[in-house]
Amino acid sequence: MTFRRIIAVTLVAQTGLVAACRSNSAKRADTSDLKAGKSPDSAAGALAATGATVGANPTAGGSSDTGKKLPQNHTGRIPVLEYHVIGGEKNGLYTRTVASFKADLEDVYKRGYRPITIAQMLDKNFSDVPDGMSPVVFVFDDASPEQFSYIEGSDGKLTIDPNSGMGIWQDFAKSHPGWKNRGTFCLLNGASAGHNFFGDSPKYHGQKKEWRFQKVKWLADQGFELCDHTVWHAMLNKFSDAVVQEQIARNVMAIDSAVPGYKVRTMALPYGIWPKNRQLAWQGSWTDPKTKQTHAYNFDAVLEVAGGPARSPFDPQFNPHSITRIEAIGNDIAKQLDALDKNKTRFVK
Ligand SMILES: [Zn+2]
Repeated sequence: MTFRRIIAVTLVAQTGLVAACRSNSAKRADTSDLKAGKSPDSAAGALAATGATVGANPTAGGSSDTGKKLPQNHTGRIPVLEYHVIGGEKNGLYTRTVASFKADLEDVYKRGYRPITIAQMLDKNFSDVPDGMSPVVFVFDDASPEQFSYIEGSDGKLTIDPNSGMGIWQDFAKSHPGWKNRGTFCLLNGASAGHNFFGDSPKYHGQKKEWRFQKVKWLADQGFELCDHTVWHAMLNKFSDAVVQEQIARNVMAIDSAVPGYKVRTMALPYGIWPKNRQLAWQGSWTDPKTKQTHAYNFDAVLEVAGGPARSPFDPQFNPHSITRIEAIGNDIAKQLDALDKNKTRFVK
């Protein structure tokens, strides 16, 4: 087990400058994590792999586009991939270049993964994944403009910037059958440097403040999931229970303003750090001093910042309040996916 070096993060607490999603104490997964998950218990055994080979039946079912049809394994692991900024000159801890993001999409597609949301995972709803193929969850944290930008035409018409994360996703879907608009966006609605529903100032990739709700609504309408990530990326262990609940509840309220009635089911811990009172990550309430109204939240899932491929909802040890993820850093995703195949610990529908 390795611990990653301490990350130099500049956090301007009250204004919430977002520099990072992970904690310096969050441990990284290594292949021993995968090996630990290699031996499902007896309940899992019935559903476990039966030994067929990859590519044995290229015309089977809905998986003919890649030729991969793997043996069913409902207790295998599900990769939940964690992205921050899509763009930049080179890959970093919190940036994935456009080229690398495109390569990631191609890689998971070729390996026979198809996207779902965390909510679908919770509901054991794998209807978007053909038999013999595997679910993958793309999670985009921090609501940066690089993830979802508009370009405004001379007629005022807005189109999705093809070089933003969502533009790349849409282009990819056009040329890759079965690639749907499924993924989870863990949003901030009041952080600095444009981390406010994908940009709140022309200073940040030309994004206008009045476009924010439209983007969030569009995502929900398309089938993407909206997830709470606090108002400004608060380090939740540093604050009182009251502030923790305010940070979380006000993010839900902002999402509700963009998409009235939307039920937020998932939250991602900023930096992967738990509040002192752990349960407040998924359940709590905040009373607005102005209106005296109380706003309660109750999530089904909490996302960790690291920890390797997530347990299946069919795994008896699945804990929806601690869903692990794989950060898009270097070759980590490919390495983890290689290990899932090598150890036959991959979820297959
Ligand atoms: Zn974050």
